[in-house]
Amino acid sequence: MNGVDFDLNRIREWLTTGEEEIVSELLKAADRLRSETVGDEVHLRGLVEVSNRCMRSCLYCGLRSENSRIPRYRMQPYEVVKAARKAKTFGYGTVVLQSGEDYGWSGSKIETLIRHLKEETELAVTLSLGERSLDEYSSWKKAGADRVLIRFETSDRKLLSKVHPAIKDDEEIRFKLLAELKSMGYEVGSGVMVGLPGQTADVLARDIQLFSELDLDMVGVGPFVPNPETPLGWITEPPVSGQMPATIEQTLRVIALTRLTLPWAHIPSTSAIAALDPELGHSRALSAGANVIMPNLTPLRYRSNYAIYPGKAFADEAEESVHHALMSRLSSMGRRPGVGVGGKMTQRV
Ligand code: SAH
Repeated sequence: MNGVDFDLNRIREWLTTGEEEIVSELLKAADRLRSETVGDEVHLRGLVEVSNRCMRSCLYCGLRSENSRIPRYRMQPYEVVKAARKAKTFGYGTVVLQSGEDYGWSGSKIETLIRHLKEETELAVTLSLGERSLDEYSSWKKAGADRVLIRFETSDRKLLSKVHPAIKDDEEIRFKLLAELKSMGYEVGSGVMVGLPGQTADVLARDIQLFSELDLDMVGVGPFVPNPETPLGWITEPPVSGQMPATIEQTLRVIALTRLTLPWAHIPSTSAIAALDPELGHSRALSAGANVIMPNLTPLRYRSNYAIYPGKAFADEAEESVHHALMSRLSSMGRRPGVGVGGKMTQRV
């Protein structure tokens, strides 16, 4: 079953229609397709936020180097291993290492860590560490890393260069990396924020088209959550005409459309969704096409300092209680935790 090849106008209509019934049909169609392709399993990927240090200046992100209001931390390798053991104990198939762009975690230190994690835990290892060099990504692949997440944030190059100032003028770097990493043998994930200031329906529709053109294995989307410690945290300009809202409802439409265009992709219910609606966010996304959750396994002493945006869900709840809450939520939805690493889904029909 191949994805539906929606043209831009169609996608734009789905994104903007005011008719509740059409939206509800869209979400239901995505939910049905999800159950036929990737099934009822929800893959759990333990998220370890290994460092909040960052040398970049993204206008949307609280980790930006200019933000002096958060205490900075860099986990020790043994602390990361300990967190990964928790993932294993809880039965998760994957550990996700995420951080700001922090060269204090050198290429070789990350390589050694990956080797150790693979040997000891046999978990799938996903990297979400930003724009590191191809040499580094290649050495990490050889060390056993399985997947990379690197969101392209927006397909609109002008908007991108404004909110994600490039290094060495290379605006295309994330798109190039996505292609190179795929050919290195990584499973590759990307995504965007929904409702980023300046994002119109045209731009968001193009983002969704691009997910399938890039043939992504994983697509993560979440609402943009303004962070008062960043330049985009305060409304300083009037919204552009046709500005997309940064809401759960809008994000659910994007998840559903992503599922319909990429039937076999792994699509997480992201933490930003849970930040806007801690009670129902995950269940709503899992009923609109999503099939992955990334429970936070960052040690409590660091967790609240990984402050990309405010209002992070489960910011001060122990890993065990987050795990149990998620498990009971899944079973009340008739969904079950995934078994195994939850890797690339191949088309069987
Ligand atoms: N340094 C890594 C990981 C970044 S954090 C990288 O750049 O790839 C992961 C994602 O969080 C980002 O890609 C971005 O899409 C999202 N994010 C950052 N700030 C946000 C905000 N204010 N609201 C919602 N999502 C945000």
